[in-house]
Amino acid sequence: MRTKEDYIKGLGKMKRNIYYDGQLIDRDDELQMDCLNVIGTTYEEAAKPENQELCTAISHLTGERINRYTHIHQNTDDLHKKQDMTRMLCQKVGGCIQRCMGIDGTNAIYNVSYEADKLNNGATQYHENFKKWLTRFQTEDLIGCCAQTDTKGDRQLRPADQPNPGSYVYIKERLKDGIVVEGCKVHISEASVADEVLVLPTRALRPVDKDYAVAFAVPGDWDGLKQVTTIHNFRPREHYKRGFTAGATDSYMIFDNCFVPWERVFLAGEHQHGGACALLFALFHRHSYSGCKPAIGDVILGTAALAAEVNNVHKAEHVREKLAELIMTIELGYAAGYTASSLGKPEVYIPGVGFVPYGPGSYIPNSIYCNVGRCLSGEAVWREAEILCDISGGVTATFPHEKDFANPATGDLLMKYTKRNPKMAVEDQAQFWRYLGDILCSATGGIMNVGNYHGGGSPIMEQIAITTQYDIESRKKLVKYIAGMSGGDREALVKTINR
Ligand SMILES: Cc1cc2nc3c(=O)[nH]c(=O)nc-3n(C[C@H](O)[C@H](O)[C@H](O)COP(=O)(O)OP(=O)(O)OC[C@H]3O[C@@H](n4cnc5c(N)ncnc54)[C@H](O)[C@@H]3O)c2cc1C
Repeated sequence: MRTKEDYIKGLGKMKRNIYYDGQLIDRDDELQMDCLNVIGTTYEEAAKPENQELCTAISHLTGERINRYTHIHQNTDDLHKKQDMTRMLCQKVGGCIQRCMGIDGTNAIYNVSYEADKLNNGATQYHENFKKWLTRFQTEDLIGCCAQTDTKGDRQLRPADQPNPGSYVYIKERLKDGIVVEGCKVHISEASVADEVLVLPTRALRPVDKDYAVAFAVPGDWDGLKQVTTIHNFRPREHYKRGFTAGATDSYMIFDNCFVPWERVFLAGEHQHGGACALLFALFHRHSYSGCKPAIGDVILGTAALAAEVNNVHKAEHVREKLAELIMTIELGYAAGYTASSLGKPEVYIPGVGFVPYGPGSYIPNSIYCNVGRCLSGEAVWREAEILCDISGGVTATFPHEKDFANPATGDLLMKYTKRNPKMAVEDQAQFWRYLGDILCSATGGIMNVGNYHGGGSPIMEQIAITTQYDIESRKKLVKYIAGMSGGDREALVKTINR
């Protein structure tokens, strides 16, 4: 396994294809350092002996110890550990750990490439090619991002019906030694700091959309790929440093006549599996949310409780109610993910059919519980911000900048007039409001909230998954029986419980 320093050194050697605010920048540019420190935490923590069980695993391909973020889930214990590792690491950086896209993308493609080969009766070698790619990914302990979301053009039109064929990434040309792809994936987190980019479809596809059923992996600086990146850093601090400064990046990834050799292609035209790949990645990613959102909730809960303490209102009844509300969302999201892990199996749920075996035997979390957990905690984002705003008052919006505290002309006066709780050091109170301003009132804080709401799929996507996979009919039959209507069935629910 590599170190954080090896990782950053490797990025420094990559070709320049990252555009930021009108300039071409290096991957190890100072602007990206806060983000690199977040991902670097996954290397530092995995190297600690006390974290070996949680943050590393034994590769089923090589028998070697690997970082868990490159692992394919072999049993329910792996699913539990992925959830708990995610929560622990997100707590350490106070937000998104940014390495889940790679593990979620690899687990999806691992299964889908196997099923596509089966459908093709040995005419394709997607799965073997993927395993070779994965072996290197694991051995070299690489960072992968996952590029799923397409620009999607007119939302009312399916891929093949769009006036611009590149509204969804598609196979423009098939050559003897590979394919040429075109299109643009948007909002792709940590692409500007990733070694490898996993690309996969964004939605269910019809036979006519077959050229959009494409999955592949290329290095982040591959020929024919340009990244236009936004970097989300908090305002720099000179005088009153933070304990940990997190940063993040997202990229528009433009594939312009981009050649991908066959050994890096894991799906090319199998439309049924394109849709399955989209759903499976979303499913693994929603499972990751059951680790990260509870951790972000832990941070919000601590922040809300401290805001109440700084204001000396922590004993007020309405504060207790709000803290209880935060805890309920945190732990229900975690419980949903825990159940999804416990019920995981090498099967997927097909509406109207039930669970069917899928893939070569690796473990897939339960879909209903992943979707319920992600939707519940994703939608709670703005309510959580509302609670922070309510308990803190207006201070976060207008708190003076740090240099006014450092300036002898205003510093002492500001200390005198910002002091609230007599039992807490006034310096700590000021430091706390600076932190709350970071997460509640900054551009970066706003971007995080939008990401936490839409990342992994907007709530409507989870609602579609839940209602199409949940057996509502059996519930109707049960009620018909209880109400004494025709067509009732007392046993309907017992037979179809969602496992
Ligand atoms: C900070 C951040 C990080 C992200 N990171 C990643 C990443 O790493 N990788 C990745 O692949 N994606 C990433 N995403 C993308 C995320 O998954 C999408 O934002 C999400 O799936 C919603 O897609 P969209 O943004 O295109 O919204 P849209 O699809 O444009 O949705 C906007 C609204 O239109 C509605 N709508 C859309 N289509 C229809 C329709 N046909 N009929 C009716 N209503 C419709 C939606 O329900 C929604 O209310 C990230 C997003 C953010 C904000």
